[in-house]
Amino acid sequence: MNQFNDHCINHKYSVSSTKKRPFIGGNWKCNGTLTSIDSLISELNSNVTVSSIPEIVIAVPALHILHTKAILNPGGFVAAQDVGVNGNGSYTGEHSAEMLVDAGIMWTIIGHSERRQGFGVKGETSILVATKAKRAIDNGMKVIVCIGENLEDRQNGNMNDVLRNMLEPLFDTLNECDWVNVVIAYEPVWAIGTGVTATPEQAEDTHLLIRKLISSRVSLNVANNLRIIYGGSVKKNNCVNLIKCMNIDGFLVGGASLLPEFSYIINCLQL
Ligand code: PEP
Repeated sequence: MNQFNDHCINHKYSVSSTKKRPFIGGNWKCNGTLTSIDSLISELNSNVTVSSIPEIVIAVPALHILHTKAILNPGGFVAAQDVGVNGNGSYTGEHSAEMLVDAGIMWTIIGHSERRQGFGVKGETSILVATKAKRAIDNGMKVIVCIGENLEDRQNGNMNDVLRNMLEPLFDTLNECDWVNVVIAYEPVWAIGTGVTATPEQAEDTHLLIRKLISSRVSLNVANNLRIIYGGSVKKNNCVNLIKCMNIDGFLVGGASLLPEFSYIINCLQL
């Protein structure tokens, strides 16, 4: 076993010994056509046993959700990429948790860094993210909440504070029993879509930090059972080493989830 595997395993046993079902999320962002989805899902259906070990959840543009759900093998789930903070009503452009549940969509991403940054306009705050998470969970949904520091935060030594500040509103808003419906995606902003991936050591250290924070602010039980997944340029050539780290419970995959190599990444969670 090489050095970083030892490092990863030591960390895992210092915090958590609970075995968790691996989780793999895809995030298609604003990409795809009905035709490209047909070919991607057909590829996944033939190369992945969706009912086996990992929980597979693919976040699809709202327009394509029902089409994708209809053709994905049972056992895999389709998610929204965001959820409205309000219920149904005069909220043009929004999709409420009620509507998603009515359509059989039980998962949503919340607080992706692209939404936090706001596409050039004011982005989403961590309080808004936590409010959305609570609303979605109260309506029966499960949520993938994304957190992550930018490069400057990491280089200036502010990463811990940034991540803690992103999580604090969740600690204030969710009840302990809500956490069973949460997956935390640690996605360093500097790794998203850049081709630069966190090293296994960087990812493992940060996942451990998040787990310890959750242990102290929520409970040891929640920390031990929570799935913390890594996102940021996960590819065929780095997924195997990342998943060996004991506090990495799966991945959120952007660019590569639009490619046939997504099947390989899913299957690496079944090794
Ligand atoms: C993402 O969009 O959540 C993501 C991790 O993207 P990528 O894998 O392309 O870095």
